[in-house]
Amino acid sequence: MTTPKPVGRRLYESACQVIPGGVNSGTRYVGEPYSLAGAQGAYVTDADGARYLDYHAAFGAMLLGHNAPEVNGAVARSLDGVDLVGVGVGETEIEMARLVVELIPSAEMMIAAMSGSEATAQAIRLARAVTARPLIIKFQGCYHGWHDSVARNVISPAGRAYGRDPLSAGILDDALDSTLIAEFNDLGSVQALFEAHPERIAAVILEPIPHNVGALLPTQEFVEGLRSLTRKEGALLVFDEVITGFRHALGGYQQVCGVRPDLTSFGKAMGNGFPVAGLAGRRDLMERFDFDGGDVLLAGTFNGHPVSAAAAIATMTYLRDHPDFYTRTHTLGERMRLGLAGIADELGVAATVSGFGGVFVLYFASAPTLGYRDLLRNDNAAYLTFHRRMTDAGFLMLPMALKRNHVSGAHTEDDVERTLEAAHDVLKGMLAE
Ligand code: PMP
Repeated sequence: MTTPKPVGRRLYESACQVIPGGVNSGTRYVGEPYSLAGAQGAYVTDADGARYLDYHAAFGAMLLGHNAPEVNGAVARSLDGVDLVGVGVGETEIEMARLVVELIPSAEMMIAAMSGSEATAQAIRLARAVTARPLIIKFQGCYHGWHDSVARNVISPAGRAYGRDPLSAGILDDALDSTLIAEFNDLGSVQALFEAHPERIAAVILEPIPHNVGALLPTQEFVEGLRSLTRKEGALLVFDEVITGFRHALGGYQQVCGVRPDLTSFGKAMGNGFPVAGLAGRRDLMERFDFDGGDVLLAGTFNGHPVSAAAAIATMTYLRDHPDFYTRTHTLGERMRLGLAGIADELGVAATVSGFGGVFVLYFASAPTLGYRDLLRNDNAAYLTFHRRMTDAGFLMLPMALKRNHVSGAHTEDDVERTLEAAHDVLKGMLAE
């Protein structure tokens, strides 16, 4: 039985009068009129008073947990300084860029943005400028933001759990046609596109782990192959680390796999819930943004905002100074994955567990789940039932099939054990029906 949400429903209905669809981002309303009224550590509370252990984590932005004192304290202190600069550069912007350059293996320079979509849009435009080529390659299942070049082929109709493909009306055919689609973990599909469009492809962009369809883990051969193929073909390799950055390792997934992309986009966890993003990469490429010597436009009233920069500095500094953070969250993530796999096995549920670090995913599909095509076997309805019942039991997860869940720095071993007990009960109940 779904917990009634009278206050949430009332708020949602009044929102619908002034906000189209009642939410400011499409995936924030999926089935239930939540309105969150409080958040602390690993927990959120809704306007109807229900408390949830939060694995949604605002799509992964909450890496240290909600209202982390280290970050919020730095943000509060930043309010005593300059509120916004319209000339020159602030100290915090420099410090933020210095930290990114220090921590991210392939970063030699960085530009600030306010969202992951802006960062990937800049990456794509820069790649086109540098190579003087029009096309890009993205992978089926990866999401890189809402802008025209990439708003397609995330979850496509045949296997979709929600949405449409392309993700939006109003995109020029030229923009859609300029984006070629390859299969993740299939180097041959990328090679074939390079052969079909010689010297026309500016960049290959990917989520190194496509977390927008859960967690497809890349083979080492695939990421290394992409590196040598793009180099050989004169195209740029762009890692979109908006989810994996700072979450899977201090230096992002590129640190884990040892492959150095030419450009990397960041966002989400970088500011632990505050709006901040960035694009980093090779100096010779990034210098094309130089307003004097370069020719690619870098603009944005709020770029490098003091609040955002303060949040990013505090988050990165905390992570750098607490290497045990990764050991802890990865151990909890592993416990969750092993626990869920054990439960599925014990109960005979046709499910596969995936994930990396603190991220865990329950696919309602039998193994293997290596590529997007495997995910077409996912029983979306079963996941949605699982999700609904877990939420009713007080565990907030992403309300969409094929999505991931996140262990943050605020979760404890006890939290994970309680989650596993609840998952056991929910799955057992589903099987008994
Ligand atoms: N890239 C990836 C990998 C993402 O997951 C997202 C957001 N889900 C984006 C880019 C876009 O970021 P934003 O929503 O901040 O524009």
